[in-house]
Parts: sequence; structure tokens; C-alpha cells
Amino acid sequence: MTPIVILDAGHGGSDPGGGNNTQFTEKDMNLQISLYQYNRFLALNIPVAITRTTDVTLTSEARTALVRNSSARYCISNHINSGGGRGSEVIYSIYGSPTFPQLIQDALTAEGMPNRRIFTRTLPDNPRLDYYFMHRETGSVETVIVEYGFADNALDANKLQQDWRDLAEGVVRAFCTYAKLPYQPPTTPTSNPKPTTAPTLAPTTSPGNGADWKQEAVNWLYDQGFLTDEQWRQQPDQPLPLWAHAVILKRLFEKLKP
Ligand SMILES: [Zn+2]
Repeated sequence: MTPIVILDAGHGGSDPGGGNNTQFTEKDMNLQISLYQYNRFLALNIPVAITRTTDVTLTSEARTALVRNSSARYCISNHINSGGGRGSEVIYSIYGSPTFPQLIQDALTAEGMPNRRIFTRTLPDNPRLDYYFMHRETGSVETVIVEYGFADNALDANKLQQDWRDLAEGVVRAFCTYAKLPYQPPTTPTSNPKPTTAPTLAPTTSPGNGADWKQEAVNWLYDQGFLTDEQWRQQPDQPLPLWAHAVILKRLFEKLKP
């Protein structure tokens, strides 16, 4: 099927990229983000392609030819930044629009990565040509370069290491909004459960007004075996999907059956 979007895992093989630290190399982080998004688009029934699925070297010519020849309308090129800074950046073509970049930034901010900037850049000697080959050589494909954060900033690096799935998912969500395609969040948690430091779990002195009774009620569901997914235990104010209600009712029914 003709892809709507092609994902580009930046760098690879003999080119590690510049966004490296003691925790990860840029090429590997780019690849795991891209593979995650690839599988998510498949799950959402959105035709998708990808420039590489393994740790291989791609020349800029080979990479841009894959994008140009993919028939995709959009390209998301995944990268990790370096060079001193904090937060995410999205770079778009001088012939493109800031709409999708801004949606990406909003989604990444919502996932806890601060928004540094969106921008375009031209060749120093030619204001009519894009600086980055991913914009300059990808023809009519609307290409954005996403720099998820700075590998040499401790806060960004830890966020990426811990929550890269959430950040990758944010871009999937932003894409669906931009391309007006139906979006559903993943059915399995995208990352480890968040620590239970949410204000709703703080002790309360006014009975009935705090959240202790909520958490107690939720914990009871787990004690009884009606719920098993630990992610939901941490989100007592979040709604459950319909199928989870069905599972709870089914387990209740089984339990009550003589
Ligand atoms: Zn890069």
C-alpha cells in the first residue's frame, strides 16, 4: 500500500550522529523511536514506510532517494540534538508550513519535554535553498526534522532515556491531528508507571474531599483481581477504555457465579 508518511531514523551504521552520551548513541535512539512510531502507525492502520529498520549506513543520497521514491506525502526525520541547549526543536522547509512543527512541539511539551524552537534555515549563499539535505533533496515530500532533546543536557538525556516512548507517541498523535486521521492511544502503557507523587495522592485532612478514598477504591479493584494493569492504578482520575469495563464486569460475573 502507498505510504502516507515515511519515518526516517537519522544516521546509522558507521555514522553514530552527534547526539550521544554515556546512556545512548543518537543512531540507536533515533532507530528505536522510529520503529516504535512505525509499529504505532501500523496499529492505527496508517500506511507507513521507514528508511531503515536496522543499524545500517545510509548515504544522504540513498536516504533522500528512499523518501522521494516512497510516494509518501510526509516525512518525519528523527534526531537527537547536541551542542549545548535544552528542549526539543523542529526544523521545517522554507517551502513548508509551521503548522505541523507547532503541533509536534505542543505534543512534546505535553509529554514533559520543553519546547525550544521551531525554525527554517537556508544555505548561507542561497536563500532559496534549504540548509538541510532532508529538506533540500526530498522533493515535494513535506519533511520535518524532529530533534527530541539534547543528548548533552542531563535533564533532556534522562527524559529521553526514561520516556522516549511517550515522546515518540506524542509525534504520532500530532501527526494524526495534522493529517486529520483518527488517533487512538496505545492499549498497553507506553512507559513505566509514573512514581506515585501526584498531588491527588497526597494525604488529606478533609475526609471526602481528598483523593485517599479514590485510591483506596482503585486499590480494592486490584486486590480483588478485577484490574491488573499497574498503569491505571497510578491514574485514578483517568477514564478506562470500554474493553476494560467489560473485563471488570466479566471478572465480577465469574466471581459471583455459584
Ligand atoms: Zn542527527
